[in-house]
Amino acid sequence: MTLNEADARAFDTGDALPTRRAEFFVPPYGEGEAAYFAGNSLGLQPRALRDFVGTELDDWARLGVEGHLEATRPWLGYHSLLRDSAARLVGGRPEEVVVMNSLTVNLHLMMVSFYRPTADRWQILIEDTAFPSDSYAVRSQAAFHGYDPDTAVVRLRPRPGEAALRSDDIVAYLAEHGSTVALVLLGGVNYYSGELLDIAAITRAAHEAGAIAGWDLAHAAGNVELRLHDWDVDWAAWCSYKYLNAGPGSLAGAFVHEQHVADPALPKLQGWWSTQEATRFRMEPTVTPVATADSWQLSNPPIFAMAPVLLSLQMFDEVGMPALRAKSRRLSSFLYDLFDDVLVGHAARVITPRDTARRGSQLSVQLDDTDVGKLTARLREEHGVYADARQPDVIRFAPVPLYVTHHDCWRAASALAELLRG
Ligand SMILES: *Cc1c(COP(=O)(O)O)cnc(C)c1O
Repeated sequence: MTLNEADARAFDTGDALPTRRAEFFVPPYGEGEAAYFAGNSLGLQPRALRDFVGTELDDWARLGVEGHLEATRPWLGYHSLLRDSAARLVGGRPEEVVVMNSLTVNLHLMMVSFYRPTADRWQILIEDTAFPSDSYAVRSQAAFHGYDPDTAVVRLRPRPGEAALRSDDIVAYLAEHGSTVALVLLGGVNYYSGELLDIAAITRAAHEAGAIAGWDLAHAAGNVELRLHDWDVDWAAWCSYKYLNAGPGSLAGAFVHEQHVADPALPKLQGWWSTQEATRFRMEPTVTPVATADSWQLSNPPIFAMAPVLLSLQMFDEVGMPALRAKSRRLSSFLYDLFDDVLVGHAARVITPRDTARRGSQLSVQLDDTDVGKLTARLREEHGVYADARQPDVIRFAPVPLYVTHHDCWRAASALAELLRG
């Protein structure tokens, strides 16, 4: 595909799902706005957010402590306002989903319940390119239980010469070596390669091997369609500041499958938000169990951090994941074709699988002998194109379908072409 600005604009005009770009603050560039491809790292701020959070601030000012019951959106049960939308987003049932804490905290809380190593089955299977926080989390869990993290944590590598793991290879590994694996914890979409794994098939293989399947959906939630309940996923966790646009360090989600939510045998850490709401204020010394994912909650939630998640989930409800994902396929395939053209003759390539069944929105461009940090800074400063570098050699571009346009894709590809020409 050759670069043509008019075609890109025409694709935008004709697209079945109009962009919602005008509903977000896009960083300024020159007289206009940047082309923002970093929404897989930090999503943009919805323009409606200031008023939305303002409601909580006003209610606090107006009501003080009475806001717990009397606020426009009463704080006491605030997390339940997010439940249905969060469940829709990940394909869970409402009782399987809760918004709480941050992602790594939720990974740990889930592992308290679902990583219970024994002498025969103690290993945790991750991908070698796991996000560092996940890697540190599983290593510290293994060490916490008295195992050597170097042998308890198994890191799967792609085939030689390939950048992305193949789901089939993970399934084959589990069939062959799964008898010592206690927990499989993989990223649904890998943060580095952008590869989308076959969550259903790997979950099935984990179960056939006798292991628990947990998923980190940081790069999958709000990016690809998920059916966590139907796929029999045991548990999952995700953050909401990437594709979900809920702001830096914003709250995370957790999913626990129906078959586990009411299991009294699961070990859990508890706090006063773990107990039944109806009797919470009797201040009893023991927890009255809740038969939903809510029972993994510990604390009363930070309302000013919950509000952005609530607004974001409302926006996702309005558009719906099927339409969003369809547009994501169109946009990212367009960008893929443009990059194909741009990268010809350069020591660079897109390492994300081309097949949209094997990726979400993100395309990872790998460049040999290039300072990717410097190139990313030049894209932003000289062309207003926000992408992000991942050491050692990758620049990630995420044409997030809520606010990135075909014209933005044209800008990104043209800018990269110009910088590569030198
Ligand atoms: C972004 C991301 C994190 C970040 O963890 P926090 O606890 O939210 O800081 C963890 N894991 C993965 C896979 C991520 O992509």
